[in-house]
Amino acid sequence: MNRETKLMHYGRVSLPGPANPPVMRASTILHDTVGSYQDTKRRRENDDAILSYGRRGTTTAHALAAAICDLEGAEACFLFPSGVAAVAGAIAPYVGAGDSLLVVDTIFPATRTYCEGVLARNGITIDYFPWDTTDLSAFVKPNTKAVMVESPASQTFEVMDLPALCKDAHARDLVVIADNTYGSSWLYRPLDLGCDVSVVAGTKYLGGHADVMMGAAAAKGPATPRLRQHSQMTGQTLGPDDAYNCLRGIRTLGLRLDRHQENGFALADWLKARDEVQAVLHPGLPEHPGAKVWARDATGCNGLFSVIFAEGFDAEGLVDRLSLFAIGSSWGGFESLAMPSDPNAGRMFQDTARTGPMVRFHAGLEHIDDLIADMLASFNVAAN
Ligand SMILES: *Cc1c(COP(=O)(O)O)cnc(C)c1O
Repeated sequence: MNRETKLMHYGRVSLPGPANPPVMRASTILHDTVGSYQDTKRRRENDDAILSYGRRGTTTAHALAAAICDLEGAEACFLFPSGVAAVAGAIAPYVGAGDSLLVVDTIFPATRTYCEGVLARNGITIDYFPWDTTDLSAFVKPNTKAVMVESPASQTFEVMDLPALCKDAHARDLVVIADNTYGSSWLYRPLDLGCDVSVVAGTKYLGGHADVMMGAAAAKGPATPRLRQHSQMTGQTLGPDDAYNCLRGIRTLGLRLDRHQENGFALADWLKARDEVQAVLHPGLPEHPGAKVWARDATGCNGLFSVIFAEGFDAEGLVDRLSLFAIGSSWGGFESLAMPSDPNAGRMFQDTARTGPMVRFHAGLEHIDDLIADMLASFNVAAN
């Protein structure tokens, strides 16, 4: 069945019944016999979708987990209250005091903060490696346990060769955890490329309407029991209302990403032609250094890209004058966004070629003519 069709059928309850699995709010699940209670506890050991206690998710969260599992090609999927919680829940089972974790230098800033602020304080060494590494020999230590990657990078869009990196990491007995938020379980399948765990911030495109916080960690192979145990022991869960809204967002994931991609390309092409622009960082543009690898490994692009303006250009003024692009954290909702940011912030391997100010744009679902008219108006004021 085509995956577009599957989006409409995830979580279907037996008929007659509602088209969406209903919101089930519950902590205690009641039984009428001790035998039934004990039987449920026994069965849940082999099945994540057994209704046993609210912390293990109700039918609403189970339906969402099954959908993400299918989208990611995973054996199991564990839900978290945010993307950062999912990142933490995917890394933590693999590292303890005295261990070392390898992290790609272009990682999402909040992941770096978790590594430095929590893991490092608990006796775990964090080592960084450049995004274009496919041979980890120069970075691996005897105590290295896992590799945390993200492709493309969420501010500067460097594309990693995950199949080559995973092959090298597995030969060294290292697990590979990928942050798949850019691909959002639709454009990219890290588990198919060799990763052990794929994490996605559902806050972005899965929810898709800027009104849900959630994260998921999808696993296969030996990573599955490891993540399950850690997630259960640390009490990670997602409330049924957020699970419901996220699954509702997933119905239109394919449709929305098609439009985000289309608007993103149109804006990127338009901006590229401006004199004020030094470079457009977008993994789908032919001049992007990772374009070939991305085209090989992914099925498309989302609405995100960054622009490096000419040195001295007042990028902040441009962003302030835009009326259809609001300024705010996060992305993946229906709305367009613009956010000035520093491409080298916090990084160990600095890219000194990038001298001008950078702005990251998120192309929303507005009509492209209006988005371009807004850009043009904002540039025209700058020129006066
Ligand atoms: C947003 C984001 C996260 C964190 O998600 P939250 O739900 O905001 O905690 C993690 N990784 C990437 C790449 C993101 O863009």
